Amino acid sequence: MRIGHGYDVHRLREGRKLILCGVEIPFSLGLDGHSDADVAVHALMDALLGAAALGDIGLLFPDNDPAYAGADSLVLLAQVMEKIRERGYEICNLDLTILAQRPKLSPYREAMRENLCRVCGLEMDQVNVKATTEEKLGFTGQGLGMAAHCVCLLKESVR
Ligand code: MG
Repeated sequence: MRIGHGYDVHRLREGRKLILCGVEIPFSLGLDGHSDADVAVHALMDALLGAAALGDIGLLFPDNDPAYAGADSLVLLAQVMEKIRERGYEICNLDLTILAQRPKLSPYREAMRENLCRVCGLEMDQVNVKATTEEKLGFTGQGLGMAAHCVCLLKESVR
């Protein structure tokens, strides 16, 4: 088995959609970035790449490459899954934590899990999505941005 951890941060600003795990969430602010800035999927991809010793998403999808401007992070996740499978690994489980002061994310949690299951080819009991505030402390607490952590476990595929 191989463990991986991923971490990502994006700023919040006006005039952007808020997309987390591919779910568009109604909110006055959205995450800023070159792609759709889906901070949760970015942390997940880095956890997968980390577990497989395949580098990170900055290496795979450079943020100065116009090909990834406005990119749907779920499409990028599908490409990461291809690489994981090519290396002969499959996912045991993944556990994602989103750090956000607002909005309340629990109403969207199941839709987020379903998106991750669909793209990664997993069952619901292999995918956990959690959200927490940081008690108004730091940049997430002050509503300046959002962060996400993900851990995943990979195992060698049975062929
Ligand atoms: Mg990112």
